[in-house]
Amino acid sequence: MNRLNTFLSSVIAVFIVLILAASPALSQQTDIEESLYYRVTVPIANSETIRTIGDLGLPIDHVHYHERVMHAEFSGYDLNLLTEAGIDCQIYQADMASYYEQKLTSDELFHSRDLTGSGAPQNFKLGSMGGHLTLDEVIDEMDLMHELFPNLITEKFSIGQSYEGRDIWTVWMGTELDEEKPQAYYNSLIHAREPMSMMNLVYYMWWLLENYGEDEMATFLLDERHLAFTLVLNPDGYEFNRQNSPNGGGMHRKNMRPNGTTNPGVDLNRNFGPEIFWDHPNGGSSTSPSSDTYRGPAPFSEPETQALKAFVLENSFRTVFNYHNFSDLLIYPYGALQRQTADAHIFLPYAKQMTAFNNYLYGTDQETVNYSTRGGADDWFYGFEEGNDNRVNAISMTPEVGSVSDGTGGVWGAFWARADRIVRLSQDNIYPNQLLALFAGPALRQTELTSIGAFQPYQSLSPEISLNSAEAGGETFFNLFFDEVLYNAGRYGMEVNLTASTDAEFVAFMENTVSFTVDIDDSFAGSTPEFVMELDSEVPDDMEFVVTIDMDIPFTQDSFSWDFIFTTFGSPVSAEPGHELPRKVALKQNYPNPFNPDTSIQFMLPESAEVTLEVYDTMGRRVQTLVNGSMSAGEHRVNFDASSLSSGVYLYRLTTGSEAHVRKMTLLK
Ligand SMILES: [Zn+2]
Repeated sequence: MNRLNTFLSSVIAVFIVLILAASPALSQQTDIEESLYYRVTVPIANSETIRTIGDLGLPIDHVHYHERVMHAEFSGYDLNLLTEAGIDCQIYQADMASYYEQKLTSDELFHSRDLTGSGAPQNFKLGSMGGHLTLDEVIDEMDLMHELFPNLITEKFSIGQSYEGRDIWTVWMGTELDEEKPQAYYNSLIHAREPMSMMNLVYYMWWLLENYGEDEMATFLLDERHLAFTLVLNPDGYEFNRQNSPNGGGMHRKNMRPNGTTNPGVDLNRNFGPEIFWDHPNGGSSTSPSSDTYRGPAPFSEPETQALKAFVLENSFRTVFNYHNFSDLLIYPYGALQRQTADAHIFLPYAKQMTAFNNYLYGTDQETVNYSTRGGADDWFYGFEEGNDNRVNAISMTPEVGSVSDGTGGVWGAFWARADRIVRLSQDNIYPNQLLALFAGPALRQTELTSIGAFQPYQSLSPEISLNSAEAGGETFFNLFFDEVLYNAGRYGMEVNLTASTDAEFVAFMENTVSFTVDIDDSFAGSTPEFVMELDSEVPDDMEFVVTIDMDIPFTQDSFSWDFIFTTFGSPVSAEPGHELPRKVALKQNYPNPFNPDTSIQFMLPESAEVTLEVYDTMGRRVQTLVNGSMSAGEHRVNFDASSLSSGVYLYRLTTGSEAHVRKMTLLK
């Protein structure tokens, strides 16, 4: 070798070392193994590139975009398709399963599994698979929940079997399950490599169970809703991942039906009907069996989707979450049709409210992942508006839990979130999970959905009263008039029952109950319930008496009572709304709860009083005084800003004279 060559070799060697040092990326010449998975970046020139990648059948429903670059995890088989299509990509991590395993097992929490101080429900535990529960461990959790709370959750039951003959276990939660109540449905792990989808639901279930009787929302949801949970829709794929990667990190996505390739299975979330979605020319699934988005030979060709379909058709779910991870998204239909549904005015404000605290991006597939999907669960649950009378017609959405940049190091939250992220990612979804159940029934709002931001429950209401005819000794008719801004924003007709009563002995009611229905998406406008009473002819002039109207709406959080003051004045009688004063001191559950960083605390005073409202931590230390002084009779609302406090359970205590009331709240940062 001559001197020049030696010199050049050294320069080249230094150059290569510099390149390697400057970039963690592996060389493009890495031998690509079809059955391994790779983390890659793909430069995205325009939306056409995304479309092309999707049309090749690559799973781009869980990718992340940053500055015109797509970050994704694709199989070697898919990478070869990309290369053949002339699309550039940069591999920066090979063999994702091993990579995940190494990262998952290097986390201290994975070994200690100690969740003290995390704010997690007492019974919530991390699993053995990188912190995630295995299939057997999920089954154990369901059994334990039923053992500890037999009145709040059923024993698990199978809705059918997977291709390999595993049961697809499901449970109902709620009290008095024999009664007809609004139903919501939660399911997860339809994609076998997305365990956060399931972990967040297990967390939510424990939260409901442990807070029943303590937290107003948990109690309400279990008393007034029936909630079904299918935690592992794809048990074969999930078990396959465990067998190959017992510490977590398995990258298989589909079910396990053999298809003659090294990547068995059908993508269950591309296997839903109706035909018009499953086979839509917009694309969004693959017809090639080896693809990760292979849709199967026909809609509902797979036993897993068949089981889900049969179970759903037996029930009447009004709201549905089909959980996946990751991308920090909340996606709603249509996936196949490249347009909004006829119920976009429902989806949009629901999604806006549900993401008020976790800040997930919401919208249709086109609006969030820039691509169509066909044969997905959301579209089927919602259904095609035209010529599909048997549609489920549920408000169905797909939350994508966690982000590619969750936690430290930039890549933690992805398919296999590290143990130290599991609790936080679960907490991010408590609020949307609560709202999903709430909206499954009637929901009382003061305005139309489209005009509001974060969900606030109904606060005050005072219907007008009008006397139609009135005379002592004869029949007296009166009507209430409801403001048209009162609105049923839930997914269930609102049956309103009004009852009038009075203590006055000279009054007899001839018509003291009135019922009417407010349909979904409809307002109270035009409701003029009429009552009839008869006054004794001997009633003296100038007598005041109070008529109380109680309003009861089944399955809603709110109940109401108003007093109207009537005055006899010879004939006719006059009437006006009375001052609505609470009858006793009451401290309400804060809203929202859990919260971050602020929440609202409401209390009622029947008369003016010296009041203190203080916040304590669980060690009994006072952390903030919200009220200290004299307050007037009536309703009060105090905002609590906890930006300077850390996550955890806090107590708030209202003291007036000799009375004290305490409630619990949870801050999740
Ligand atoms: Zn998924």
